[in-house]
Amino acid sequence: MIRTGIGVDVHPVEDGRPCWVAGLLWPDAAGCAGHSDGDVAAHAACDALLSAAGLGDLGAVFGTDDPVWRGASGTRLLAEVARRLTAEGWTVENVAVQVVGNAPPIASRRVEAQGVLGAAVGAPVAVAGTTTDGLGLTGRGEGLAALASALISR
Ligand code: MG
Repeated sequence: MIRTGIGVDVHPVEDGRPCWVAGLLWPDAAGCAGHSDGDVAAHAACDALLSAAGLGDLGAVFGTDDPVWRGASGTRLLAEVARRLTAEGWTVENVAVQVVGNAPPIASRRVEAQGVLGAAVGAPVAVAGTTTDGLGLTGRGEGLAALASALISR
């Protein structure tokens, strides 16, 4: 049995926040506000995996009012999602994530990001970046977005 899933995440960019994207800290970029570390790439990947397994979504699984997950890193959430899928008999085949925004420059640390997210998932994670040529909330630098897909089997 093979299943695919999709995930999207968007967070507002906030000056002075540490920038965690794709499991990495980006010291030269403004970070995202959020209940956790605001890692849109990791969160989109979580939702893609949950979607594929039919296990709901990040908000339902972790709950924004659950203190256990307050401040949790995106990679910690991702590892927990992967654990839950494994517990249900699923094997993660791969995950693909695309970050949409002006910064950080994903391509400059793509291999590193893939290593960190891949270790959290226990399967290959491809990471890419793109911009919207100045259009929309990501183009104006107001927010960062990410899209993800996942393929799982059992
Ligand atoms: Mg999020």
